[in-house]
Amino acid sequence: MSVVGFDFGNESCIVAVARQRGIDVVLNDESKRETPAIVCFGEKQRFIGTAGAASSMMNPKNSISQIKRLIGRQFSDPELQRDIKSLPFNVTEGPDGYPLIHARYLGEMRMFTPTQVLGMVFSNLKSIAEQNLKAAVVDCCIGIPVYFTELQRRAVLDAATIAGLHPLRLIHETTATALAYGIYKTDLPENDQLNVAFVDIGHASMQVCIAGFKKGQLKILAHSFDRSLGGRDFDEVLFNHFSAKFKEEYKIDVSQNARACLRLRAACEKLKKVLSANPEAPLNIECLMDEKDVRGFIKREEFEEISAPILQRVKAPLEKALADAGLAVGDVHMVEVVGSASRIPSILKILTEFFGKEPRRTMNASECVGRGCALQCAILSPTFKVREFQVNESFPFPISLSWKGSVPDAQNGGAEQEQLVFPKGNPIPSVKAVTFHKTSTFSVDVQYSDVSDLQAPAKISTYTIGPFPTLRSEKPKLKVKVRLNLHGIVSVESATLLEEEEVEVPVSKEPAKEDAKMETDEKLNDTSAPGANETDVNMQDAKGTAEAAGVENGVPQSGDKPVQMETDTKVEAPKKKVKKTNVPLAELVYGAMLSGDLQKAVEKEFEMALQDRVMEETKDKKNAVEAYVYDMRNKLCDKYHDFVTASDKEELMAKLQETEDWLYEDGEDETKGVYIAKLEELKKQGDPIEERYKEYSERGTIIDQLAYCI
Ligand code: ATP
Ligand code: MG
Repeated sequence: MSVVGFDFGNESCIVAVARQRGIDVVLNDESKRETPAIVCFGEKQRFIGTAGAASSMMNPKNSISQIKRLIGRQFSDPELQRDIKSLPFNVTEGPDGYPLIHARYLGEMRMFTPTQVLGMVFSNLKSIAEQNLKAAVVDCCIGIPVYFTELQRRAVLDAATIAGLHPLRLIHETTATALAYGIYKTDLPENDQLNVAFVDIGHASMQVCIAGFKKGQLKILAHSFDRSLGGRDFDEVLFNHFSAKFKEEYKIDVSQNARACLRLRAACEKLKKVLSANPEAPLNIECLMDEKDVRGFIKREEFEEISAPILQRVKAPLEKALADAGLAVGDVHMVEVVGSASRIPSILKILTEFFGKEPRRTMNASECVGRGCALQCAILSPTFKVREFQVNESFPFPISLSWKGSVPDAQNGGAEQEQLVFPKGNPIPSVKAVTFHKTSTFSVDVQYSDVSDLQAPAKISTYTIGPFPTLRSEKPKLKVKVRLNLHGIVSVESATLLEEEEVEVPVSKEPAKEDAKMETDEKLNDTSAPGANETDVNMQDAKGTAEAAGVENGVPQSGDKPVQMETDTKVEAPKKKVKKTNVPLAELVYGAMLSGDLQKAVEKEFEMALQDRVMEETKDKKNAVEAYVYDMRNKLCDKYHDFVTASDKEELMAKLQETEDWLYEDGEDETKGVYIAKLEELKKQGDPIEERYKEYSERGTIIDQLAYCI
C-alpha cells in the first residue's frame, strides 16, 4: 500500500513518500524535487510536468498552467475572469457555466475541463511516485488550500479519480505544514499550549493558520486567507510596469503577442527573485518582439512602491486569524513562514512588525506541505506505524441546511428555514443529525451560511428525501444525518424514519414538550401538500469529536455508528420500540461532475495516456533504428570486418545509409510498427554477422575466422 503525499501548487508540485526511516521528497525524471504544474498539448502527445515546462515556451497557447486557479470555479467568477486575462491559452464558458480550456491536441482543437487537466497533472505526479517506489500508487493524501470550496474539493477528488488515485484525505496545506512542524518536536509542553502562526505565501494565494501544540497533538485554532495574494501578483506589477515602459521606449505592445507576454512575465519573476537578495536588478530580453532587444532596470524601493497596493493586503488575513483564534499578538509564541513568495523582504518586514517578532524559517518552505501530506497519509494508513500525533482540524466555513418550512408564506406555501449545522471552526470530520417531522418527499439544501469569505454561490447541493414508506405511526421522526467528511466535503448521508411501534413507557417531561410542539405544528399544516408538513428540527452534535479522535488514531471513518440516534431515542422513551426505515436520498451537487461523465473522463485519460506511451515508445523505437545504423556501421568497419564478405558488407552498408537518409526524410515521422519492421529488416542482414562474431569470440580460434572469410 502506497503512502504518498502530493502538494500540487499553482506553479509547482512536490511528491513526498513515506519510508520506514522517514519522509522523502522524491525526484522527477529530470532529477528535480519540484515538478511544474503544466500540461502541454502537442500534435502527437501531451507533455506533462518538466516535459510540459520545456515545451511551453515553444507552444504557449497549448500549454495549460495555473490549473489550481481554474478548478471548481464558475466561468463568471470575477477572480477567474481576472486570472484568465493573463493566461496564454483560451478559456471559454461551457454550457453548464463552468470554464472549458481550449488546446490544439492531435491535430485538432479540443476542449478540456480544468478537472481533466488537473487529472493529467496528478497522473504525472503519480508516475513520479511510482517510479521511485517501484510499486503502484493509489492511496495518497493531497494538500489543498484551506479556502477551497465544496466544489473545488470535489473537483480535486474527481481529478484524483481520473488519475487512478484514491486520496485518504484532502488536507489543508497549512495544516499539513503544522503537522510536519509538530510531529518531530520532542519538547512540546504537556499542559501549556504552544501557539504557532504559520504564514504561507505561495504563487497565487496567502494562507495563515494558528495552531496550538501540546505533546502528541495539534489543534487548529484559526484559518484565514487571501485567495489572490501571492508571488504572481508581484510578477504582474513588474510586468505591467515594464510593458508600459517598453510601449513607450520601444513602441512594442507585448500584450499583442502571447510568446512575448510569457517571456516578459518569466523575466519579471526572475527579477523579483533577484530583488529579494539585491537592492536593484536589471532586466534584459533579447528579441522580445518585433526583433527588438529590450533593457530595463529597477530598484527594490521602486518595486516596493509599485507593489504597495498588494503589500497593504498582507495584514488583513493576519488580523483575522488572530481574532478567530481569540488570541492577542502576544499569545503567539512563534511565527513560521513558508511558501516561496514569503522571501520578498517587504513581506517579511510586515510580518515582523505585525507579530512583534522575527518570523522563523525552520521549515523547508517549498517541501513542508508535501511532507505533511505524506505524514498524514502515513497516519491514516493501517500499514504504517507513525508516532502518535493527533491533528484536530477545523473547518473554515459555516454550513447550514435550508428547506421550505411549515409556516405558510404568501407566495409558496412555506417560508425558507435555515439551520446552522456546522459552524465556522467545526472539527473535521464530524457528523450531525437533524430531526425533521415530514411524512412525504421534500428537499433540503446544503449551503454556506455566510459567503462573505467566499467567491462561490451559497447553495452547494440539494437533497431530495423520499418517497416515504407507508407510515405506521402518526408522528414519525425523520433523522437526517449530515456528514462533514475528512476532505471537508459536506453531504447528507442518510435519512432514517423512526417510528414508534409500541408505547410502553410514558414519555418523559422534556421530550413531551417537543411532541406537543410537533402536534401543534402538524395541526398548523394539516395538509397533504408535499413539504408543508415539516414541524420541528432538533439538532444534535453526533459525537463529531469522538469520530475526529478516531481518525487521528489513523482509522479513516467510513462507516458510521449512529451514536447520536441511540442517544436521542433514549432521551425520549427508553423502552419504546423504534422501527428504523431508510428513506431514499437523491443528491444534486451544483457544478459537480456526474458519475457518468467522470467515468468517461477516466476512459479519456486512459486513452490519452496510452497515446503518450505509444509516442514515447515510438521515439524509443526510432532511436533504436538510428542507434543500430551507427553501431552497425562502426562495427562493420571494425570488429565485424573479418566476419562478413565484402559483398555482404557493401550491401549492408548501403542499406544502413539508405535507412539513415530515410530517418531524416520519409521516415522521420513514422509509426512504432514501421520502426520495429525497419529494425528487423536491418537485423536480418546484420544478425548472422553478429552471430558469427559471437561464436568466434566464444570459441576464440583464428581458424574459424579464416573459414568464414573465404
Ligand atoms: P500556491 O501555494 O499558490 O498554490 P505554489 O505552492 O506553487 O503555489 P510556492 O512554490 O510556495 O507556490 O511559491 C512560488 C512563488 O514564490 C512564485 O511566485 C515565485 O516567483 C516566488 N518566489 C520563489 N522564490 C522567490 C524569491 N527568492 N523571492 C521572491 N519570490 C520568490
Ligand atoms: Mg503552496
